[in-house]
Amino acid sequence: MMKTILVTGGTGFVGSNLCHRLIADGERVICLDNNYTGSLENVQDLMGNPRFTFVEHDVIEPYDCPEKLDRIYNLACPASPPFYQGDKSIFTTKTCVFGIINMLELAKRDGARIMQSSTSEVYGEPLVHPQVESYRGNVNPIGIRACYDEGKRCAESLMFDYHRHEGVDIRVIRIFNTYGPMMNPEDGRVVSNFICQALRGEDITIYGEGQQTRSFQYIDDLIEGMVRMMENEVGFTGPVNLGNPGEFTIRQLAEQVLAKIPTTSKLVHRPLPSDDPTQRRPEISLAAEKLGWAPSIPLAEGLDRTIDYFRRKIGK
Ligand code: UDP
Repeated sequence: MMKTILVTGGTGFVGSNLCHRLIADGERVICLDNNYTGSLENVQDLMGNPRFTFVEHDVIEPYDCPEKLDRIYNLACPASPPFYQGDKSIFTTKTCVFGIINMLELAKRDGARIMQSSTSEVYGEPLVHPQVESYRGNVNPIGIRACYDEGKRCAESLMFDYHRHEGVDIRVIRIFNTYGPMMNPEDGRVVSNFICQALRGEDITIYGEGQQTRSFQYIDDLIEGMVRMMENEVGFTGPVNLGNPGEFTIRQLAEQVLAKIPTTSKLVHRPLPSDDPTQRRPEISLAAEKLGWAPSIPLAEGLDRTIDYFRRKIGK
């Protein structure tokens, strides 16, 4: 049976990859986005498909969907620090909080199952390593990342309140750093920055000493985990971590990118942004146990695929 699925943030990096997967699976997809960080280019090839509809809309405003929905994937939110902070910070909190309330109301109206894309940022500067779902985190509530971290934490709390009090069928995932095709070259995040800088022969900008760590997950692994989580019929709500436990320092990442791209680029250091977490690695045994899921694409292979994408995208 074909399902009718709403994807908010559907023209963004994760959203557009998800839309492609769901269309390939034979589903009906309504893709909602305000195109603040997303781009119609990411779904251009789906536009002629009768099972695909794009709607320009900001989730901060209620959305009266004309079709009855079976599933809602709520991905709408700028996710890169340069795009969610500064003069966008209040907008980011509203996107997280008003956005999920509007989508939960829609889920309640239709009896639809809803997934919230939460984040490893709910762990803040983690004092437990690797991060397990039961860890409650160490977030600075008044810092420059708080709009995103606290916005996402509040969205999780709303998910569970609608579940307990309104009977909404919920799924919560916590996404760790993800990269791959359909990232915006100007996104500002580390993988896209390093690859594009190397392809353009520009300096590779390491923030701080580059000793901070991240664990990088290839997009196809994430999408597989998301669909498994959404379609698990045992009522497992999460939260569940989805990430690749392979952990690298930012300097190691820069060296890997340089080893793959012949370039004149040099490593340079820039100030470390405040509240930048020093380490991050997902504990993923819950996803393995409940969903039979584990990432399968190592960083070296994922980087090759992502470099191919950016070569085409920026013509280098
Ligand atoms: N980073 C960096 N150079 C860049 C962009 C980011 O060294 O050009 C660092 C950033 O300070 C952070 C890590 O890379 O420690 C990951 O940053 P990103 O913005 O990709 O993700 P997040 O901070 O949300 O994990």
